[in-house]
Order: sequence, then C-alpha cells, then structure tokens
Amino acid sequence: MISTSDIDTSALIATERQFGAHNYKPLPVVISQGRGAWVKDVEGRDYLDMLSAYSALSFGHCHPDLIEALNAQLQTLTLTSRAFYNDQLPLFCRELAALTRLDKVLPMNTGAEAVETAIKAARKWGYDHKGVAADSARIIVFADNFHGRTTTIVGFSTSPKTRDGFGPYDGGFDIVPYGDLEAVERAMRDDTVAVLVEPIQGEGGINIPPAGFLAGLRDLCRDHNALLICDEIQTGLGRTGALLDSDHEGVTPDLLILGKALGGGILPLSAVVGRESVMRVFEPGTHGSTFGGNPLAVAVGRKVVDLLANGGMVERSASLGRYLQTQLETLTRPYRDTLVKEVRGRGMLIGLELTDSAGPARHLCEKLVLRGVLCKDTSDSVVRFAPPFVIAQDDIDFALKQVTLTLEEMN
Ligand code: PLP
Repeated sequence: MISTSDIDTSALIATERQFGAHNYKPLPVVISQGRGAWVKDVEGRDYLDMLSAYSALSFGHCHPDLIEALNAQLQTLTLTSRAFYNDQLPLFCRELAALTRLDKVLPMNTGAEAVETAIKAARKWGYDHKGVAADSARIIVFADNFHGRTTTIVGFSTSPKTRDGFGPYDGGFDIVPYGDLEAVERAMRDDTVAVLVEPIQGEGGINIPPAGFLAGLRDLCRDHNALLICDEIQTGLGRTGALLDSDHEGVTPDLLILGKALGGGILPLSAVVGRESVMRVFEPGTHGSTFGGNPLAVAVGRKVVDLLANGGMVERSASLGRYLQTQLETLTRPYRDTLVKEVRGRGMLIGLELTDSAGPARHLCEKLVLRGVLCKDTSDSVVRFAPPFVIAQDDIDFALKQVTLTLEEMN
C-alpha cells in the first residue's frame, strides 16, 4: 500500500479524479488531520473548518469524549446485527427518546435511509390508521427541498441536477412552495398522510420560512389528520441554537428525523424518533438494516446525547451563532448590493447570499481556502457557514477577517 505521506496535494487529487467517480467537486484541499475546529492538509497547512461536514461535525474533529466512547466500544463489541440484542442500543433508544421528548427510536445509518424510514412509517400509518386505500397515500413536500439521494427521494426534488436522469420516479408526493401555508392547505386531500418539511432548508440555500410556518403546519396536520414529519438531519441537535429547530416554535412533530451530528462526525448514525401511535406500525420484518443500531455507532450516539443534554453545546451554538451572524452582517454592510445580497441564518447555520455580479459562491469559497478558511457554497449564490460548536470566538474573528479581506479583494 502506498503511504499518503509520500504523495502531495495535486497527485492525491489527480488519483481521486482518475479512480473515483466524479459525483462531487471538492474544493482543492486534501485534509489529513483534524482537531476541534481546525484541520491540517497533507502539506502541513492549517485551515479553520467553517462547514463541519455539513453539520455532521458539530462537536468538532476528534472530540475527546467521543473518541473515548468510540475507543472503549471498539475494544468490546462492534456489530451484532439486529438478529440479537446488544447492550448499547436499548440505552441509546431510551436516552434519545428522553432528549427529544418522543416515545420510540428506530436507528438507521445515513440521513437518506432515515427519511425513507419516515416515509414508510407515514404511508403504513395512513393505511393502518387513517383508512387510506392501498397504494394511494400522498405526502406533501416543498419546492427546493433536500432530503437525500435515494431514487424515491430524488423523485420529489425540484433541483434538475439532483433529479433529472434517475427516473422512473415513485409517485405519491405533492410539491408546494416552501413557507406557504395556504398552498399546504390547498394540497391537503383525504389520502394525504403526512407533510415532510425541513424547518430551515439547508441545501436549498439556508432558506428560512416565515415565523409561524412550522406551528401552522402543526395545526394543519392536526386538522387534516396527517402526520408532521420534521427532517432535522441538518438543523437538529443544537445546530440552530436550540436542541431542535422546531423548538423555536414550540412544535413537536409526529416523526423527527435525525442524522449527521448524531454519529458525532465519527460514524454514520441516523434515526427516526416518533410517537408511539405511529412507530407501532413497524412489526418484525417490515423494516431494517444490517448496520442500523450497531453498538459502535450507538455508543458514540449515546455520548452525543450526553454532550447535548449536559455539555452546554446548545447554549454555545446559540451565543456564538448570534455573534457570528451579527458580525457578518456588520462587516459585509459596505458590500451590500454590490457583492452581498443578504446574511441570514439561525444559531450556527448561516448563509451569506451573494449578488449576481459577485459571481458564483464557489469562487468566494475557493478564495477562502487560500486564506485558510473552509466553507462551502449551497445553491449557486449562497456561502454556508456552519462551524463546529467548539470553535473559539477568536477563530470566528479570524474567519470573519478572511471573509472581509476577500470581499475587499473582489470589490
Ligand atoms: N436531509 C437533510 C435535511 C439533509 O441536509 C441531508 C444531507 O445533507 C439529508 C437529508 C441526507 O443525509 P445523508 O447525506 O446522510 O443521506
């Protein structure tokens, strides 16, 4: 095996381009180490991570408590499959249910699998409990949604890049404009079993719906006997300055979808957490996953739950997020309308929307790489800032300085 220390940045990038499928277009930095909010590339340069692997690394790289939990479990038991019980999963389910104030947990691995799980649960609930005729359940979803990459999910994406070329698509989804409660009400039918929503659209461009939207959805779902499913894979677990983004409106969904940070940025771990009356639709043999609920991932997940409940992480996200957003608004004001259209966000999920004349958001991200700051465009015109909660305020100041210097250079 070739040692990576013998190969430089451009050779590694060329190797990936030659032997890996081109389903991503990474920024040109090759990371080999990470600790807290900082990473190092193969040539020893340091970068501040302002993306956190799309919110999966909310606790930073190699958080010592998470690594300790991982190592302890790694020496003990890694996988049983669900053919047998293991001693970690029962406690993970109990602790996650208590944290989210819901009843039952179904563990999976990736976010998309958990979304698929919620769709299956909602459809089966519709047939078993709402009396919807077989194979006719409908789910309301929103324009500009992003819920993952499976064939069912991309079938109700409104992004041509995500959707086109992968049909035929599964039916049963009604797409309405995001944030539009009247459109949701108009789309409600007797066979509507659920509304599936991201409380903030992350991949869609950090789109924040009008205040009261989620609470309005909760009421509409109650009035039409449909389930409210919140996909908090990106917004949940402290990202927006509350444990769940739906907490900002005091909304409890019937099904909550979690992923990304649930695995501590170490292992894929996702889950659907829901009300007993809905989760009971699953019986042995109706759904599953070989790796879902494996003791290694859920041992890390238990420590994540503990950090969220007792580690001051949510409070840190709220206060540092406020600081980052306010400073970003102030410092980018001189470029308002020339280069910057808007700064928007909640907690540690913040978007900087550029004007058409500023060029694609990717260009700004490329320039920031050269200044030691890693972030990523989301939609063509928005730069997403989603740093780990463990970031120091001085580091935020460093990132802000690099953003302002880059805007000054582009002006
Ligand atoms: N749902 C939301 C809201 C997401 O942001 C993502 C990923 O970005 C997913 C689902 C899919 O998660 P995964 O990439 O783990 O399948």
